Amino acid sequence: MRIVFIGPPGAGKGTQAERMIATYKLAHLSTGDMLRAARDAKTEVGRKADRYMSTGQLVPDDIIVAIIAERLQAPDCRSGTLLDGFPRTIAQAEALDRMLADKGTPLDVVLELQVPEEELFRRLAGRGRADDKPEVIRQRLVAYRQQTEPLLDYYGERGLLQAIHGLGTVDEIFARIKGVLDPLAG
Ligand code: ADP
Repeated sequence: MRIVFIGPPGAGKGTQAERMIATYKLAHLSTGDMLRAARDAKTEVGRKADRYMSTGQLVPDDIIVAIIAERLQAPDCRSGTLLDGFPRTIAQAEALDRMLADKGTPLDVVLELQVPEEELFRRLAGRGRADDKPEVIRQRLVAYRQQTEPLLDYYGERGLLQAIHGLGTVDEIFARIKGVLDPLAG
């Protein structure tokens, strides 16, 4: 199974992603985690990415696409892949389509985790990550609305989009995700 997981910052994608990879034996490709690891290791890519991450802007597409292209080659991606935080722009989605077409393994489904904006602020403010300062949160939400939300139409037109209601307990939300994925897992 190849799954794209989309949702605004603070929607709870990380928590649900952990449940999904354990249940469906998927490789977890989180671009946010990869970028934070690169930043902490002080690699060239990490240093470049940090300038964007610390202000809540998206890291340039060419950097992200190169990271994902390399990661998708790894053997653990063969059985199944959860793309978490990627793609975030139309250009990234087009690049992903090309990569997956080359491998002959198209996407199965795109999950959109839906959470109202006032709840996102509440959750992010309580989290305390370096980029969870109010101005940076605001900028991340702007980036989501302007650059990532257009993907919902992109995938909707392709018949791949499934909305998941993101309010409730972790178990309730995961049950909704299972309702979509179990029939696909066969
Ligand atoms: P959140 O979803 O809470 O914003 P992430 O961990 O997914 O957190 O991402 C943190 C930051 O990493 C983003 O604000 C952005 O700067 C960068 N980033 C992550 N994924 C991408 C991507 N696919 N394209 C561009 N930038 C990205």
